[in-house]
Amino acid sequence: MSQSLKEVKIFIPEIPKEWTQRTRGGHTNIWNDQFFKNGLPEVRLDPPERGLYAERFDDGWYWVCGCNKCLGILGKYSYIVCYEHDRCETCGIHRSELKEAPWGMGSGWQCKPCHEAERATRKAEALAEARARGHSEDDCWRLDKVICPVCGSENSSEDMHESSEHEVECWVCDAEFLVEVEYEPKYTSRLKPESEVEFDEAQA
Ligand SMILES: [Zn+2]
Ligand SMILES: [Zn+2]
Ligand SMILES: [Zn+2]
Repeated sequence: MSQSLKEVKIFIPEIPKEWTQRTRGGHTNIWNDQFFKNGLPEVRLDPPERGLYAERFDDGWYWVCGCNKCLGILGKYSYIVCYEHDRCETCGIHRSELKEAPWGMGSGWQCKPCHEAERATRKAEALAEARARGHSEDDCWRLDKVICPVCGSENSSEDMHESSEHEVECWVCDAEFLVEVEYEPKYTSRLKPESEVEFDEAQA
């Protein structure tokens, strides 16, 4: 690559400038996807280099850079990533050198060894901290959140929508535990719109 990707602007002669409906499937750019039923032919093109995508300008379509890291936009998910920046967020290993499938992260991905190391550190820290303050089941009684009885970490209460018992595997220390959910009923009374109140009559 002679110039930096973010300065690239390559004219796409195949695509008339009048075409406006362009969708994307990974790195592939699709004009007039059948979904639109606009009567125009569907055309699919892959960019000449990874990290580019098609953008419409006044005089037609061009390949331009869509890699956030090239563009200096950090900490934000990038729909496409150039070859050079397709790396582990933590250690920087390139995707082509991976031995196992990586984990997706907010702004990219993390290789499995980094993910596991981070997990092991988080688990060890949570367990040491729980031990230091004598955390036990007694600290997990009728709380407004789900707390692991082993490591004290907060776990998700998603999908616990009814009063019953739920099985949880702690996302930090892997302990399996049970959560009993109680929903407290609240009662609200109001008159039906058509009902009449007749206090006076009753008194007469
Ligand atoms: Zn890049
Ligand atoms: Zn890594
Ligand atoms: Zn735990």
